[in-house]
Amino acid sequence: MSTLLGKVAFITGAGSGIGRGTAERLAREGADVCILDLDEEGAELTANLVTQVGRRAHVVRANVASAAHLQKAAAECVEQLGGLDIAVANAGIARGGPVLELSQKDWQDQLDVNLTGVFLTVQAAAQQMVKLARPGRIICISSLAAENTGAGIWAYSATKAGVRMMVRGWAQELGPAGITVNAIGPGVIETPLAQGLAGEAGGAIRTGLESRTPVGRVGTPADIAGLVNFLAGPDGEFMSGAYLLMDGGLRDASPGWEADESAMEERMRHMAAGEERRRKMQPFLDDRD
Ligand code: NAD
Repeated sequence: MSTLLGKVAFITGAGSGIGRGTAERLAREGADVCILDLDEEGAELTANLVTQVGRRAHVVRANVASAAHLQKAAAECVEQLGGLDIAVANAGIARGGPVLELSQKDWQDQLDVNLTGVFLTVQAAAQQMVKLARPGRIICISSLAAENTGAGIWAYSATKAGVRMMVRGWAQELGPAGITVNAIGPGVIETPLAQGLAGEAGGAIRTGLESRTPVGRVGTPADIAGLVNFLAGPDGEFMSGAYLLMDGGLRDASPGWEADESAMEERMRHMAAGEERRRKMQPFLDDRD
């Protein structure tokens, strides 16, 4: 069933992980998709997935930490695809570390992307929705970390808890314009960002996580995309200001720390891969003009 036929979705961070899965799912439901990412190569791969199911895709290389980039991107979405009905503020980064060590640069970059970036995305998208006078749906990606936190992850948690609160205010302000605003809190989802937590199939980290998670598996981008699709579609019309946790039951599971030697080795390997990915993207993140 094509529940989103004729709609245009604007998705940040759609060049990888949850954003890519969401672009693919919304396209399968009939939406054309504006794919915004720092990573143009990843964004082009997502665009191919969208066009493969017969929908139109438009790629914008932009930084959500820049108001100028977002204003231009949202306007381009309307020009190129004829509207902006669904906005998914999904782009995010994880900069963890202990309070004795976390640099102000990492703290600030994470605030700029995860908190300011969500604000700027919602502002630019909502301005277009109001201008077009069409009903809109805004979905912001928060995290299980908005309600659970711990050593090394508190800074990321602070940004995600902020998103959870912002949507409640925005739901009040934008409701009269026919726009709903909601947040999703994914648990551990198998994406490049969470590889150190999700591990790999058959590995020690994954096995430990699966045994702690009530539904017995790690989450996938398709899981979260299904929830975005619900919020963006006809069945989501009466939901606004909500925070929907989708974590397979992990929040209330007993804490577990897969600390045996092979899990530690695997974790170090994923951390090194994460550092490499970060080194590649940092110059783009620093470009805000
Ligand atoms: P990912 O790293 O696979 O994808 C994130 C995408 O965002 C990347 O393509 C990256 O290039 C892009 N991006 C990063 N900073 C950007 C910026 N400044 N401007 C434009 N694009 C930018 O990560 P993911 O796991 O798919 O994460 C998506 C969202 O879900 C994030 O907000 C993340 O915090 C959240 N989340 C993820 C998990 C998980 O377990 N994977 C859990 C909870 C919440």
